[in-house]
Amino acid sequence: MAEHESLEFGKADFVLLDNVSMEEFMANLKLRFEKGRIYTYIGEVVVSVNPYRAMNIYGRDVIEQYKGRELYERPPHLFAIADAAYKAMKRRNKDTCIVISGESGAGKTEASKYIMQYIAAITNPNQRAEVERVKNMLLKSNCVLEAFGNAKTNRNDNSSRFGKYMDINFDFKGDPIGGHINNYLFSQQGAPDSLLRSLHIQKDPKAYNFIKVGGHVSPSSLQSCINDGADFKAVADAMKVIGFTGDEIQTVYKILATILHLGNLTFGVDGDVTLIENTKLVSVIRELLSTKEENVEKALLYRTVATGRDVIEKQHTTQEANYGRDALAKAMYERLFCWIVSRINDIIEVRNYDAKIHGKNTVIGVLDIYGFEIFQNNSFEQFCINYCNEKLQQLFIQLVLKQEQDEYQREGIPWKHIDYFNNQIIVDLVEQQHKGIFAVLDEACMNVGKVTDEVFLQGLNTKLAKHAHYTSRKLSPTDKSLEFDRDFRIRHYAGDVVYSVVGFIDKNKDTLFQDFKRLLYNSSNSVLKAMWPEGKLRITEVTKRPLTAATLFKNSMISLVENLASKEPYYVRCIKPNDVKSPLLFEHERCRHQVEYLGLLENVRVRRAGFANRQTYPRFLQRYKMISEFTWPNHDLPSDKDAVKRLLQGCGFDHDVAYGKTKVFIRTPRTLFSLEEQRAEMV
Ligand code: ADP
Ligand code: MG
Repeated sequence: MAEHESLEFGKADFVLLDNVSMEEFMANLKLRFEKGRIYTYIGEVVVSVNPYRAMNIYGRDVIEQYKGRELYERPPHLFAIADAAYKAMKRRNKDTCIVISGESGAGKTEASKYIMQYIAAITNPNQRAEVERVKNMLLKSNCVLEAFGNAKTNRNDNSSRFGKYMDINFDFKGDPIGGHINNYLFSQQGAPDSLLRSLHIQKDPKAYNFIKVGGHVSPSSLQSCINDGADFKAVADAMKVIGFTGDEIQTVYKILATILHLGNLTFGVDGDVTLIENTKLVSVIRELLSTKEENVEKALLYRTVATGRDVIEKQHTTQEANYGRDALAKAMYERLFCWIVSRINDIIEVRNYDAKIHGKNTVIGVLDIYGFEIFQNNSFEQFCINYCNEKLQQLFIQLVLKQEQDEYQREGIPWKHIDYFNNQIIVDLVEQQHKGIFAVLDEACMNVGKVTDEVFLQGLNTKLAKHAHYTSRKLSPTDKSLEFDRDFRIRHYAGDVVYSVVGFIDKNKDTLFQDFKRLLYNSSNSVLKAMWPEGKLRITEVTKRPLTAATLFKNSMISLVENLASKEPYYVRCIKPNDVKSPLLFEHERCRHQVEYLGLLENVRVRRAGFANRQTYPRFLQRYKMISEFTWPNHDLPSDKDAVKRLLQGCGFDHDVAYGKTKVFIRTPRTLFSLEEQRAEMV
């Protein structure tokens, strides 16, 4: 239970609600938000509401208040979670992870920064130069990735980049020695508008040299990069500090410029010939990509196809040319992004031979990932995000329940079954081989004849007609939530979501013509060339289909979850109080929706079904000994355990607790609450 703030700020832990109902939950959340208490616990989970104003709660003084303390001793805070994860890592030698979820704008990235900042502040007491260097590098990598991956765009239905996972490695002293980043994003994405706009592209190709690599890096430019992540100059400076070469940064710039120009390229027809209308742009793009001009034009207007033994060049229609151009821009951006991540990983990887071989090397992972998402129109992206959240929920169930069970066993307390909805059935519905939704999608994409979204939907209807969590308009014609013939609905753990199949096929396939891959591979810019190794293949050599987006995504989710499962988890659930960035507005319905989709009530229920609180005997005495004459100021019983028993019997709480080997377990929050009240009266 959290530090006793007065009740005027509401309950610091939702487990302490009198009744677990949506009304009480929301009332407490709102009250705390209005009183400027943006963090509240559910046991060890932090629920955070974006304050949309600067809070004076992240300073050095506050860090000191949380350092080395137990979770329940101070008001709820991210720092408490960060400290708990750090302590578990350092004292118990455990790998830990902090999972931060919530919708776009809910405060995930800010939270991950505060957590990193806290860890940076409490480590390296001896100011070792190498550790300082690593810390600096980790913080800056984060900033570069934010600029490329998390641009502040207005949220739209096709948003956006959605997940980032960063491991921080620690040596035996508990100091950071390196890291690793994984990114989860969809292939169907272009460059962030703000980043592109910040390039100030000018007509004159000579102007492209405006980024003079080797210039002086001012701290303020880095600062602006950290603050907004949109200024390319600042990003370039940060990249330089991290260790990207001048050529690499130039290439990044050229790729971004190319993407911008591609956006302006238009096609027309002359008789039955498709042509590029603004040919000057082709020269510009050629120069940026260091390729031959004819090659650029050809790749934009033709595709090479193998028919039997013959290889022919087939002219695009304008529609195909438009499609190809857009696919190229998206693919270039995606490839660039992945390349940046892998370069950063090369640089921040744990290098120190001694640390690798001799020292124990433990990890804290920080996952910043979209929560359950539901829009007016839900497509492939929402489907993937929600599948990811089903996976994380499954992990949560396994880990939290397992952790409880393990602890009860260790402490010799009989295990009491906790009732909860096991969502494995929904995970299977999506990822199962042959008849899962991803498998049906891949199969539809492999069709030789008609490859349409409708064919995909038919496949789903045939294979999943009987599944309790799947339905479509065809299968339930009278169901009002299914408006269109292209809709299907999944009953997710967090609620029902209707998806439109429109675009699924296209988003799932690798849509980039091989001709473009060859074009980029044949660039004389070695950095660019290295990004496109598959361009080496000639058309007749391309036999294997590239993996689909669904398969890639599924594989990355499975390995993410495996990775998290090997660690001790901590959770931060972020809530966005309104859509207008107001510090004053708590939109009830909007927040309720998020509470529902984050599964927070269920979370409280599970937490309360077991023991609400547990503390070691000495710790318990330290906090409550003043409320009993038997323990104040000291007890004369044979053990602390006996003393705690005596104290609780005296207060009449004996029936509500269990005595483990080293800890006392308190079942209902009410008991804990009364203890806290009695304590408050004494001190
Ligand atoms: P997300 O990563 O979930 O999309 P961000 O972390 O980028 O959201 O937060 C969006 C904006 O909300 C931030 O730019 C900041 O203005 C504000 N914000 C979020 N968390 C906090 C906080 N703890 N204190 C003050 N402002 C915050
Ligand atoms: Mg973010």
